[in-house]
Amino acid sequence: MPDWNLPWEGGCRCGSVRVRVTKPPLITGACHCAGCQKMSASAFSLTVTVPADGFDVIAGETEIGGLHGPEVHHHHCPRCKSWVFTRAEGMDWFVNLRATMLDDHGWFVPYMEVWTSEGLPWATTGAARSFETSPAFDEYEDLMADFAREGARPRQRS
Ligand SMILES: [Zn+2]
Ligand SMILES: [Zn+2]
Repeated sequence: MPDWNLPWEGGCRCGSVRVRVTKPPLITGACHCAGCQKMSASAFSLTVTVPADGFDVIAGETEIGGLHGPEVHHHHCPRCKSWVFTRAEGMDWFVNLRATMLDDHGWFVPYMEVWTSEGLPWATTGAARSFETSPAFDEYEDLMADFAREGARPRQRS
C-alpha cells in the first residue's frame, strides 16, 4: 500500500484552530448515533482516529463543547464553534479528529460505521465494516490491523 503522506494539517471553519497529524491513523469511521447527528447537524459524523502522540494543536486553542464530560471531551473552536476533535477520558492514547477538518480530506472513506441502529434510513456510507452499535472492545485490534492493510490512503504527492 502507498504511504499516508504525513504530516497532515487541518483546521476549523474559520481557521483559528489548526491541527497537525504526524502518525498514521488507527482507523476511520462514521458514527450514525443520535448524538453525532446533533453535533454534526447532519446524518453522521466522520472520524479519523489518530494516536494521541501523533496529534497536535498547532494554532489557537479549543474549548469544550458538546457533552461536557465526564467520559468525553468534545473540543471546539471558540470562534466558529466547529467540532474539531474528541478525546475520551481514560483512553488518552488516541484522538478522534473530525475527518472534514483535514485540509485534504477528499480521499477519506470511513472504514467502519457504527450505531447504524440509530441511523437515518437513507444514510449509507459504503463502509467496509458495519455495526448496529459499536464493536466489542476486543474487536478493535483486528479492525485496526485490517484498516492498516486495506484502509483508503490520501492521494499520493507527485
Ligand atoms: Zn474556528
Ligand atoms: Zn456518534
